[in-house]
Amino acid sequence: MIEPEETPNIKILMYHRVIRKGDREGDPLAVSEEAFREQMNWIQNFGFTTITFIDYQLYLEGKLTLPRKPIIITFDDGYQDTYTRALPILHEKEMRAVIFVLGNRGLKRAWWESGDPDDLCLLMSDSQILEAHALGFEIGAHTMNHLALGELDDEEIRHEVHGSKQAIEELLQEEVLSISYPYGSLNQSVLDVTAEGGFRFGCGVFTGPPRFGTNMFDLRRLAIKREMGSAQFLMRLLTPWQYLEWAWSRRNNLRQISDLNRFRRYFKTTTAPKEG
Ligand SMILES: [Zn+2]
Repeated sequence: MIEPEETPNIKILMYHRVIRKGDREGDPLAVSEEAFREQMNWIQNFGFTTITFIDYQLYLEGKLTLPRKPIIITFDDGYQDTYTRALPILHEKEMRAVIFVLGNRGLKRAWWESGDPDDLCLLMSDSQILEAHALGFEIGAHTMNHLALGELDDEEIRHEVHGSKQAIEELLQEEVLSISYPYGSLNQSVLDVTAEGGFRFGCGVFTGPPRFGTNMFDLRRLAIKREMGSAQFLMRLLTPWQYLEWAWSRRNNLRQISDLNRFRRYFKTTTAPKEG
């Protein structure tokens, strides 16, 4: 068994939506299809090879060797455009990624976006998730309902975290090892509940240590945003950028976003989804 501290300092990129001209733009984390393709070209041209958390776990167990320059690409939320826009580009380039989807499979749209409830961004269907999984993409959990875990009590955290693992495992018929925390919202209870639920990897955003492997349940990721040009992307790819963000985040308190009220409003306007 290899100790995580002895392994390479693997970067984890965080993506959300990949959009085309004419798509509803939504949040500032959406990147254009052209920018995404260019970024994937940079990753390949600089000799990186994409791996998943499952690969990394196999490596820890001595069952797999890592490529020379491993990198992990993640997508939060499981938007339909992850399937229609990002997946074809990645598949064409023989690259893989980790897609974090919601355990509540009754949720069809991204309720946490603002706007007309019937016009919110569509999420990947069960069959799209299964297809991505069959193509070698890792499917991770993103909790049941996309609530800020840091604001919930232990019972609710357990439902959101353990429930999503169970629901997605039921869909995939395979163990789910990884989770990402909505809004990067977490506290010690969240980390404990995640570990006790049998996950091996938990992804935050701006909270964890800059060294991959130091805390497997609070993995720091590099957010890729729409307004980033090539230079800004390459700085994140090629320099120890996560150490800079780590230093900044120690100065600024993590912004806590409360979306519970919007979540309740959303359910008043749509039919309540079935659980599980
Ligand atoms: Zn999310």
